[in-house]
Amino acid sequence: MKNIEAIVFDIQKFSVHDGPGIRTLIFMKGCPLTCIWCSNPESQSTTPELTYMGDKCIRCNKCLEVCPNHAISVEENRLVHNKDLCQLCGKCVEVCYAEARKMLGMVVDVNYIIKEIEKDTLFYRNSGGGVTFGGGEPVLYPDFISAVSAECHSEDIPVAIETCGFTFWRNFKKILDNIDLVMFDIKHMDPKTHKELCGHSNQLILNNLKRLSQRNDIEVVVRVPIIPGLNDSKDNISNTIKFVASLRGNIKRVELLPYHKFGESKYERLGRKYPLKGLKIPSDEHMQNIKRTMEGYGLNIQIGG
Ligand code: SF4
Ligand code: SF4
Repeated sequence: MKNIEAIVFDIQKFSVHDGPGIRTLIFMKGCPLTCIWCSNPESQSTTPELTYMGDKCIRCNKCLEVCPNHAISVEENRLVHNKDLCQLCGKCVEVCYAEARKMLGMVVDVNYIIKEIEKDTLFYRNSGGGVTFGGGEPVLYPDFISAVSAECHSEDIPVAIETCGFTFWRNFKKILDNIDLVMFDIKHMDPKTHKELCGHSNQLILNNLKRLSQRNDIEVVVRVPIIPGLNDSKDNISNTIKFVASLRGNIKRVELLPYHKFGESKYERLGRKYPLKGLKIPSDEHMQNIKRTMEGYGLNIQIGG
């Protein structure tokens, strides 16, 4: 097997989310979009990143002492990390016994991931589970995903991906060859607004979903994040469901994912500002209204993933 490499920021075992049964979730690092509501900011860049959890820090100051670049200092009794000086050498992580500092992002190869997956084969078999690639974005690593998923299929392990779908079809097609389930995001139907909110137009994405929906060997779940004031207008909701209803094909259901604030503290740990500070989560009533509107188009609509 060709030993192709990729960058992952986490591997979670025994998950009961993101696909049926018990699953191994593999979070790829790097994303071509920059959605302002992203709840996994640690997944956006392909380079490793240093995080700091102040609540775990016991102020032993070992990281200050060991840093060869003087990138950590104390200001107003708080530890401050200077990203411009930091060379990501990882020395501060090695000495942090409290695990307040972590390096996110490791280079892995196909063999390594296959070994991790194979450890849980029994759980997949007994629960109807499998492997899910998320992130970040699996579409950044077509050769890697293709090689790992082909190996999984040779061992009868089902594979799912969660994706924003932003890639050329030739790359997407390569990924799809050994995938059983695709969880595909639609974030906004207007190309201009999509670019403002997510960094790129949605044209490639919608074209890919159109082509994907014609594949009868793959199950598709469309996921729509509901972000108050940004993509939940009547017009956008109706354009979204009209588009999905026009495809049908292999689309099993639409999942509405209400905006949440779980990502907020992650921005802080990465030393970044949370772009949606103060935004309220959508009410149950609002989510139910959207669900009812969408159900009018004859599709199976679910709140939550
Ligand atoms: S080494 Fe870890 S626990 Fe000690 S001061 Fe640094 S971050 Fe805090
Ligand atoms: S990763 Fe290296 S350079 Fe960066 S803060 Fe830690 S010890 Fe210093």
